[in-house]
Amino acid sequence: MDEGPRPLSGLGDRVKREEMVDRARARREPWDLVIVGGGASGVGVAVDAAARGYEVLLLEQHDFGKGTSSRSTKLVHGGVRYLEQGNVALVLEALKERGLLRQNAPHLVSDLAFVVPNYEWWEAPFYGMGLKIYNLLSGKYGFGASEILSREETLVRLPTIKTEGLRGGVVYYDGQFDDARLLINLVTTAAEQGAVLLNYAPVFELTRDAEGFVDGVVARDLETDQELRVGARLVVNCTGPFTDAVRRLAEPTAPPLIAPSQGAHLVFDGSFLPGDTAIMVPHTADGRVMFAIPWRGHTLVGTTDTPIESAGLEPRALPEEVDFILETAGQYLHRAPTRADVRSVFVGIRPLVRSGDAKSTAALSRDHTIHIDASGLLTLTGGKWTTYRNMAEDTVNQAATLARLPDRDCATRTLNIHGFHPNAEKFGAFAFYGADALGLQELIADEPVLGDPLHPSLPCCGAEVVWAARHEMARTVEDVLARRTRALFLNAAAATDMAPRVAELMARELGRDSAWQAAQVEAFRQLASGYRLGEA
Ligand SMILES: Cc1cc2nc3c(=O)[nH]c(=O)nc-3n(C[C@H](O)[C@H](O)[C@H](O)COP(=O)(O)OP(=O)(O)OC[C@H]3O[C@@H](n4cnc5c(N)ncnc54)[C@H](O)[C@@H]3O)c2cc1C
Repeated sequence: MDEGPRPLSGLGDRVKREEMVDRARARREPWDLVIVGGGASGVGVAVDAAARGYEVLLLEQHDFGKGTSSRSTKLVHGGVRYLEQGNVALVLEALKERGLLRQNAPHLVSDLAFVVPNYEWWEAPFYGMGLKIYNLLSGKYGFGASEILSREETLVRLPTIKTEGLRGGVVYYDGQFDDARLLINLVTTAAEQGAVLLNYAPVFELTRDAEGFVDGVVARDLETDQELRVGARLVVNCTGPFTDAVRRLAEPTAPPLIAPSQGAHLVFDGSFLPGDTAIMVPHTADGRVMFAIPWRGHTLVGTTDTPIESAGLEPRALPEEVDFILETAGQYLHRAPTRADVRSVFVGIRPLVRSGDAKSTAALSRDHTIHIDASGLLTLTGGKWTTYRNMAEDTVNQAATLARLPDRDCATRTLNIHGFHPNAEKFGAFAFYGADALGLQELIADEPVLGDPLHPSLPCCGAEVVWAARHEMARTVEDVLARRTRALFLNAAAATDMAPRVAELMARELGRDSAWQAAQVEAFRQLASGYRLGEA
């Protein structure tokens, strides 16, 4: 089969699932690290460990990023509100990591202005002071100085804000990124550093040595339905909301480490928040933080913080979460959005680290935790996307000691992430691909029909589908529409319309028949109905 153009790094086409399966099966000696979970935590650890030269295998039960890591608010932020909680260490860490991420993945991180609108006399001095401190803490990694805005200046930045009682605002700067795209680029980065990463490979057993220490895992390759049994010097559990389920594979009575809490987002079209400034509401009616953010030509509003009993792969928004977001948006936007305006609703689950006396999940720690069970299973959980690199560095430092690996320095502070390009904006709709945009352009030059839009409402084209199947290990229509492009998260109805053409292009790439295409389209239609209000 034609291998297609190579991306600039020349290594992107190493991310082929068949090759990954062969390499996972071929290895006889134990891996240095076997990582369970392909979200920000697991893939971050894979990049760090592989870049130090360790032998790494990562296994993900569904697609990379299927869990929380594609469902965040997409902010690379210091977390202004943690200042209020007095957690200066977390803010400092996040501000530093925010700067490193922009440096290493400039094609995926952009500066974003946030305005805190003020309707009370005390808000401008109060938030103005807090944000000055935020600026100072960011030091050389700063994104821009905060300022107090007059009413007129606020209206220039936010023309759709409610004007009644508006006094002015405070503007500050943070970062925005595309979570799933970053994750996919990190998968390629890890592969380029020599790691083997497999999606659709759930781990269902942890094996033990004669002394009872975990010494490997048993997974299933869902595409061939074959078992994969691998040995490991150390198994690293990075399964986010599923952390305790995996720990219990080793110790069925292990007390829970995390308290899952879900957060919903609603997506509207761009007319609700035109321009490039976001709104930050520091205290909603029930004391949470709420954002309205311009995202890929749309408006993203969220989020909630609702404790849940157990985690699933497709969490659904509760009716009260939808009502709360609509109500809060209506308090700040001139034209209050209604259910009919919702283009997509998506939900993520925070793996918050438990603490005995926290009264609500909003008060639970956002720091990461590294936990070692008596069985020797190492777990990384908690934290946030923004700090994934630092979390990985910490974890690999501890893993290397525990697994008695040779000491090697962390290399990720200055490691460019796959797709790195200093001015990717010039690639227009392909900017998010960074340097890979050239590969997409070549695909279109070879076969112009691949440049045709797949839907009038979204800027996705066939070349992205082909690219995802060839170079980014996309295996299903959902992988393409949810995580290689963001169609499902932007407009679930449009994504459903796109599914048949996506299935056709994928079938051509992956050598599948028409029955596969029909089954894929139907599975996606059902999934997408859960992202549309009133049809879940
Ligand atoms: C609503 C919301 C908004 C957020 N917004 C932001 C934000 O704006 N900025 C920010 O910095 N952070 C944000 N976060 C936090 C951030 O998204 C998470 O901290 C991060 O994505 C967690 O990544 P993870 O890898 O630990 O978990 P996940 O992404 O959930 O990954 C765990 C993976 O493990 C896999 N898995 C589970 N069991 C198995 C098994 N047995 N075998 C193999 N694989 C398995 C799952 O399928 C999953 O893909 C937000 C979180 C939420 C919930």
